[in-house]
Amino acid sequence: MNRVAAATAALLCSLVLAAGTAAPAGAAVPALPEIPGVGASSKQVQQYTQMSSDAANDAWRRGYTALPQPVRDAVPREIRPAEPTTAPLPPAAPQQQRAFEPTPAPDTCANCVALTFDDGPVGDTSRLLDILDRMHARATFFVVGTNVNANPATLRRMQAAGHTIGNHTFNHPRLPLLTEGGIGAQLDDASGAITQATGTAPRWMRPPYGEYDGRVAAAAGARGMSVAIWDVDTEDWRYRDAQRTCRVAVDQARAGSVVLMHDIHPATVDAVPCIIDGLRAKGLRPASLDELIKQPAAGHVYTRRP
Ligand SMILES: [Zn+2]
Repeated sequence: MNRVAAATAALLCSLVLAAGTAAPAGAAVPALPEIPGVGASSKQVQQYTQMSSDAANDAWRRGYTALPQPVRDAVPREIRPAEPTTAPLPPAAPQQQRAFEPTPAPDTCANCVALTFDDGPVGDTSRLLDILDRMHARATFFVVGTNVNANPATLRRMQAAGHTIGNHTFNHPRLPLLTEGGIGAQLDDASGAITQATGTAPRWMRPPYGEYDGRVAAAAGARGMSVAIWDVDTEDWRYRDAQRTCRVAVDQARAGSVVLMHDIHPATVDAVPCIIDGLRAKGLRPASLDELIKQPAAGHVYTRRP
């Protein structure tokens, strides 16, 4: 079709030359002769032009546009080049959404168990953090303010790994024996140490020895903290036996349990790989308290997930 359009343009040019550029506007247009070599009449040329590809039409339009105005006027309308499409391009289609965007199942933590470690951080806490990292498990640390001040980098490591950090008072007294002012000072000093180390105030507290009364719960609640006790006591501090600690933790834990341990005892740290494997074998998932109980009520006492 390009040949047809080019032939048409050449023909028109020759007509122009023959007619002379001084032909007055409105002069009679000479009848188009047969196109040599093509054998097409002007009617057929018109059809070919309409049928031609966009490229052929573009070539013809360029040739036509180059003609002097009087000549262009002399070209019959039906064989003038089609106007280029001036309609705006349709807007770019929005980026197609992937048809099968994976939708993660909602994490209900239905099978979660909270492993909690009290009284640190101490030197061996780093070994425990190594184990939790290696086994991709999260836990909770109820830390004592004096130990926080001695090991602030360990707290930052807990935070970076996504473990929950809770307040276990500043120096581990029996809170019910203290005045309200004394209870408040223990909580405030420990929270201050944690905040200084990590930049984040704790929202959980655990009273030493699990001893609390209404004043302790109220003091925690007034500071935006919930009280975490436990429903599984491994008595790891009494026996200091890794196998026994593992057996008690795995046998007694059920979905939603809170397990009490102490990371100041090396035998407890030794038990942790066995505990994580054992819980997983039961279909349970070790998790942090923040994962297990996502929106705890301040001042409320939890022994496990309600
Ligand atoms: Zn303790």
